[in-house]
Amino acid sequence: MAARRPSLLDFMRGNAPLQAVSRCRFMLSGTAIEYTLKRSQRRRSITLTIDENGLRVGAPWRATQSRIDNLLASHARWIARKLTDWQARRPPPFTWQAGATVMALGEPLTLEVDAASKITTRCGKCLTVGTGTDDPDILARHVVAWLRDTAQGWFEQRAGHFARVLDVRAPTIRLSNARTRWGTCHPDGRVLLNWRLIQAPPALIDYVVVHELAHLREPNHSPRFWHWVASVLPDYKERRLALRRDAIRYLLA
Ligand SMILES: [Zn+2]
Repeated sequence: MAARRPSLLDFMRGNAPLQAVSRCRFMLSGTAIEYTLKRSQRRRSITLTIDENGLRVGAPWRATQSRIDNLLASHARWIARKLTDWQARRPPPFTWQAGATVMALGEPLTLEVDAASKITTRCGKCLTVGTGTDDPDILARHVVAWLRDTAQGWFEQRAGHFARVLDVRAPTIRLSNARTRWGTCHPDGRVLLNWRLIQAPPALIDYVVVHELAHLREPNHSPRFWHWVASVLPDYKERRLALRRDAIRYLLA
């Protein structure tokens, strides 16, 4: 086992409890599996998490490596299955070219290049990009511009609708380019939504819109906040789960 003890450099000191992050490995059916080990003074038990970022182990500060190794060994089958699941969900590497598929509102669209046109338009299951070149960077720029444009219109329309339902003022919608967040709600009423979200199905977009608008009612994640969300979307938990599970499909570009 190649786990290394946390070094002083790993420590994040201050008022926060001590924690340390390191990369480790263990052998699973003859294959070396890398994982992130996060030790924390606050943690009382060892936890295993698997998502698109791989395996993460949370451990109490003083947990011995053999205790961690034993837990990994006793969950070997579960870990192998989960890692395979995530692997299968990962889309193949994307190449910007005619014939490639992009998602919009949960539907796959095939890219077509049309030198005779100057605009990008959707026709049924195709997205026709008005460019005379198949240069991947130019193609990407056109498609992202179309997605952002579509996102702005869609988000504003949905936010207007749900603002009426929640009886809050319709917020100003700005597009964000964040890598790790779908939305942010500022106390002054501005709502930022990630343009990539337009790739997800409308039901999942609605969850993010309602979540951010509900913050105009409750600026926290208290039970009262979730009560507001549930009052609009009784099945919000399923939507949130689906968004978490499928996020990797909607992180184009
Ligand atoms: Zn929130």
